[in-house]
Amino acid sequence: MLNLSKKFLQAFSVSGAENGLAAIIKEELKSVADDCIVDPMGNLLIMRKGKNSAKKLMIASHMDEIGFVVTGFTGEGFVKVAPIGGIDAIASSFHKVRFQNGLSGVLVSESEVKAADLNVKKLVVDIGAKDKKDAEKKLKVGDLCAVAPMFQRLSGSRYAAKAFDDRIGCVVSAFAALHAEKPAYDTWFVFTVQEEVGCRGSKTSAFRIMPDYGIALDVTAADECGNGSPVTKLGKGAAIKIKDRSVLCSTAIVERLSALAEDAKIPYQYEVLPYGGTDTSSMQIAGAGCAAGCISIPTRYIHSPVETIDMKDLDACAKLLIEFIEKGI
Ligand SMILES: [Zn+2]
Repeated sequence: MLNLSKKFLQAFSVSGAENGLAAIIKEELKSVADDCIVDPMGNLLIMRKGKNSAKKLMIASHMDEIGFVVTGFTGEGFVKVAPIGGIDAIASSFHKVRFQNGLSGVLVSESEVKAADLNVKKLVVDIGAKDKKDAEKKLKVGDLCAVAPMFQRLSGSRYAAKAFDDRIGCVVSAFAALHAEKPAYDTWFVFTVQEEVGCRGSKTSAFRIMPDYGIALDVTAADECGNGSPVTKLGKGAAIKIKDRSVLCSTAIVERLSALAEDAKIPYQYEVLPYGGTDTSSMQIAGAGCAAGCISIPTRYIHSPVETIDMKDLDACAKLLIEFIEKGI
């Protein structure tokens, strides 16, 4: 999964511009796909036939990451930007960024802004332009950028990178698609678009599939307090979601995932997240509704350029997902 992580993390995939990553994933999974659809929004849907084709399982992980869109230029040649998704100004600023056309820049605050007053409205990108005219030769309004790729091993099995949210969800899903034995049901591995701006791609893809069961793969807060105690702990295994602000997971899924983890001795923990939203909610309320849950990957510093995970948790999430795909409810 390390190799898949490195490969997926290199792609430019700001919300609305996920086609580069979709092409990489499609190529990776073509050998196991019984069906493959890229829908009008850009969602990538890959199906593996199951033992029981009367039921459908949808696995959702989102390809997009937060970033910025160019809104204009200052006289001095700085690039004005607006956020796409939940940007934290302090976490994002004074980092290298990469535009979709390959151009590099650094995300900084407007010169007169003190650190304490920093917010997303005060961020600009310095691309080294001499003046406005020079900047306009290199970029136009509507161009996208994100923090430049970074992937760093820390100690042991812990790694830091930008956009682990939700590239590692895509990694777990792709790994399961490649390595699961015959699925219990027809299983749709869906790599969704525009999650960071309101779980949009999962709405249309869930409507298309109308699954009986849905499992999302996404990151969740680790070692950070929810209601006085950490939501999850790094290194303590796959997190079975109970709720976030968008969803109350179906108890049938929570119970089944817990039983599968117990039986296969996969380390797991429960996640009760007081904020946030995931593609789980779209699947649960698509059409006439389905039984939906989420396997979350504990992650520190979410939406910063140094999101940190423990690969052992990733292994646990993949094992648990494979168990569910093979055995079903
Ligand atoms: Zn996410």
